[in-house]
Amino acid sequence: MTRRARQWTAILGAAVLMLGTLMLDLPARWQTEHVAMSAPLEPTARPRQPQQPPTIRWLPERVHEGTLLNIIVEGGVPAVLHAEGMFAGEPLHFRMNDNGVLVALAAAPLDSVGPRALRVSVTHEDGSRHREQLDVIVVSGDYRLEELSVAPQFGRPQPAEVQQRMADEAARARAVSAASHDTPRMWEPPFVAPRESRITSGFGSGRIFNGQVQSRHTGTDFAGAVGTPVVAPARGVVAIVDDFYLGGGVIYIDHGAGLVTAYLHLSAKDVAEGDTVETGQVIGRVGATGRVTGPHLHWIVRYGGHTVNALSLLELPDPAAPSMEH
Ligand SMILES: [Zn+2]
Repeated sequence: MTRRARQWTAILGAAVLMLGTLMLDLPARWQTEHVAMSAPLEPTARPRQPQQPPTIRWLPERVHEGTLLNIIVEGGVPAVLHAEGMFAGEPLHFRMNDNGVLVALAAAPLDSVGPRALRVSVTHEDGSRHREQLDVIVVSGDYRLEELSVAPQFGRPQPAEVQQRMADEAARARAVSAASHDTPRMWEPPFVAPRESRITSGFGSGRIFNGQVQSRHTGTDFAGAVGTPVVAPARGVVAIVDDFYLGGGVIYIDHGAGLVTAYLHLSAKDVAEGDTVETGQVIGRVGATGRVTGPHLHWIVRYGGHTVNALSLLELPDPAAPSMEH
């Protein structure tokens, strides 16, 4: 070996040593994240498979405020085994479908348009992890809003005990939604409508006074005579059967993995708290109980703390079928 070659060998050796030392000093999280793909971290271990992050997308592609969407994680090398994430303040519950694609339900809240951060963290087969943050652009739901130029006539203030009762009932409903994130997912799409009848009042309509949305309709009303049946849209556990001040005869169903549905103004309740109900099972009867002007079913769909348009549950695109609309 020439002197020059020996010099170069020594320089190269020192460089390799320095690089090795540098890599040992890398923060632990770097070693497990996607950054690792550019350089093997352990020279003695066999080379890692080339890493490729999965594709993260959502359906529908155009996301309206106050609707449900599916978050989809597919592809990736090595294969992705597990994913978790957050969107609009609610955890996501990914489940792998028959095609090896991870799908989670999510909700775009009402009255919140613009970019919303979607955070997803995946674990690959070899234990390596990858984190990604994407912006989901949420567009207006185009809900019917009536601008008022004069102050709406508010009813007499409710007595303190009525206000307390309404607050307690709302808190019980919220508790069902919070608990649903810890309930195993019981549902399987497609969902069925609780009634086949005409929709008499859609989700989201409201009145604006002084730039503030007032008395928003956060359910979907179905026509029905008193006594006509109401069915469960999916499998779930009955969480509340009661008579509420505003809602009248109510049933709340926890379907698990964050999804809760509720049925208001019922004349009869055919299930009890703790019952497991199946898709299409009759749970109660249409009525005119609580604060109503006539008999109808007021159907509520919630993902975590967000109340969404119930029709977006019935119209969720099938993630197994790649979207053809662009
Ligand atoms: Zn209603």
